[in-house]
Amino acid sequence: MSEKRATTGPLPVVPFLKIPDDGEAYLEGCLCTRCDAIFLGQRSVCSKCGARDQMETRRLSNEGTLYTYSIVHRSFPGVAVPYVSAIVDLEGGGTVKGNLIDVDPNPTKLAFGMPVRVTYKDALGRKDCDGNSYLSYFFQPRSQSPRGSR
Ligand SMILES: [Zn+2]
Repeated sequence: MSEKRATTGPLPVVPFLKIPDDGEAYLEGCLCTRCDAIFLGQRSVCSKCGARDQMETRRLSNEGTLYTYSIVHRSFPGVAVPYVSAIVDLEGGGTVKGNLIDVDPNPTKLAFGMPVRVTYKDALGRKDCDGNSYLSYFFQPRSQSPRGSR
């Protein structure tokens, strides 16, 4: 059995995760220049106002707040449970679904609106048939800034 070797760095796990040759990974969205709506990934038509061909790509923020979540107790074989599947509103626009890590999967430890950070890590050791690894994104809790205290 021949062993294939990866010839590139990690592959993005989704098309809207961008990995520049020099620099940090980031999430990319597009902005409607007519109504300022922001969506993940690329599109040519705004689903908020219907404008065509008025979208510009934008680098999305790595900081946001937890909009909602679900604690997953049953998943595919080999997927460790429980884990927190979250929807996060990014600062400056964009709403992203992903897993919230480094937190107890317990409702008493999770608050709607809690500040989170997007972090980029290997996608749990998974590889394609050529041996390429995948880079994925996750959310982590971040401490609230003093100016944001209530
Ligand atoms: Zn629009």
